[in-house]
Amino acid sequence: MKKHNLIDGQWVAGASATPNVNPSNTADVIDEYAQADRQQANAAIAAARAAFPKWAQSTIQQRADILDAIGTEILARKEELGTLLSREEGKTKPEGIGEAARAGSIFKFFAQEAVRARGELVPSVRPGIEVEITREPVGVVGMITPWNFPIAIPAWKIAPALAYGNCVVIKPADLVPGCAWALAEIISRSALPPGVFNLVMGRGSVVGDAIVTSPDVDALSFTGSVVTGRNIARAAAETMKKVQLEMGGKNPQLVLDDADLDVAVNVVLQSAFFSTGQRCTAASRVIVTEGIHDRFVAALTARMAKLTIDDALKAGTDIGPVVDPSQLKQDIDYVAIAKAEGGKLVAGGERLARTTDGYYFAPTLFTETTPTMRINREEVFGPVASVIRVRDYDEALAVANDTAFGLCAGIATRSLKHAAHFKRHAQVGMVMVNLPTAGVDYHVPFGGRKGSSYGPREQGTYAAEFYTAVKTTYVNPV
Ligand code: NAP
Repeated sequence: MKKHNLIDGQWVAGASATPNVNPSNTADVIDEYAQADRQQANAAIAAARAAFPKWAQSTIQQRADILDAIGTEILARKEELGTLLSREEGKTKPEGIGEAARAGSIFKFFAQEAVRARGELVPSVRPGIEVEITREPVGVVGMITPWNFPIAIPAWKIAPALAYGNCVVIKPADLVPGCAWALAEIISRSALPPGVFNLVMGRGSVVGDAIVTSPDVDALSFTGSVVTGRNIARAAAETMKKVQLEMGGKNPQLVLDDADLDVAVNVVLQSAFFSTGQRCTAASRVIVTEGIHDRFVAALTARMAKLTIDDALKAGTDIGPVVDPSQLKQDIDYVAIAKAEGGKLVAGGERLARTTDGYYFAPTLFTETTPTMRINREEVFGPVASVIRVRDYDEALAVANDTAFGLCAGIATRSLKHAAHFKRHAQVGMVMVNLPTAGVDYHVPFGGRKGSSYGPREQGTYAAEFYTAVKTTYVNPV
């Protein structure tokens, strides 16, 4: 069955359709998904615009009930949705199920947030006047999402948008329309009025661009690469949209001499290689002080040799395939770049053959790299990490902050002094102490600084900053 777009409460065939291929097994086509054209994207935007005045007046109880029901269904179907996720994106089944569960929890969280809508009543500096500060929906929110979290990222944009009374037009990544479609199907059976939520699948250059340039879209939430994000921010400024961008990372993981070796190895293994390293929060620069360097590299490569890289749906697989041929080429290209720059390849670095035709790539580690090498400055977005040897904590911190990115940073240490200093001085949005850089909670703010993020934070109570407009009202009660 072909999967259509959801526009104004109707399932509408696309201008064309595209197959959704399993990266673990390219002979497995999940389904054909609609490709909208610009006209259909504009129809979805018009439907959201028309639905907005009424939806903005919906009660907080109505919104809470709808979001809660959506969350309940996602949680009840997390195995099925997680399996679909692993099949289309390539992260392992336990990771896929975990992500689906996270999406359900996010809807439940924002169901509760809807009824916690806040305002303030404050005295004026003038006698007898009262000042009210309230929050209102922003309007029509356009959403453009990447392929690496096919259900969680749409969920963490859609749920707060609806909770605060906005209408939604979402374009998921072209590579992974399956989870977004499944989520839209669940939403389509909720009590949400037609037009409040619209799904338009298709190319970024067509559907994405229509959303970015439309004067009828009030706010734009984007997650993806820095290059696309920058272009989108420039284009969105033409129509003065509110913009929120979550982009790439080149996240540092410090390992200090006093680290618990097992903890440090586990943290790096998780951060750098799990989910095939395809996480914006993945640690790719492992900054290690010289006293522990050799022991750490030996222990890490020993653990890497034991990892099972195979079909994402197979029991026992630790790491699934890379998402598609172009990402695989990028990983291979960066291995060549790192080698040419003088990095020492100590593990992986090559494509792997398995029983099915998929995009398998060995987790890869370089040592003897320096902070100025391209491998330490550019996001690879694959299971590729490089070790930078440093003298001490001070040098480690300086190297960690020497980057255009600022999403998250980790430190493995048993020193309270260094952990406390790092928490304060790491120039990032998220810090992890003796924990993997990737893997965050759903109820607290998510995001970074510098080239990684732009605009208000996503998730948790902080999501209200983006999905609401603040109004200040002065009252003279005569
Ligand atoms: P991408 O190539 O930038 O694509 C992201 C989205 O933008 C896709 O839906 C894409 O559509 C769309 N797009 C492309 N060109 C567009 C245009 N001209 N106008 C409007 N939309 C356009 O990123 P990706 O490869 O999917 O995702 C990987 C990147 O996302 C990495 O850099 C990663 O670090 C980042 N990421 C960041 C976070 C975070 O929260 N900081 C989380 C996850 C991922 P198509 O699918 O049609 O290309």
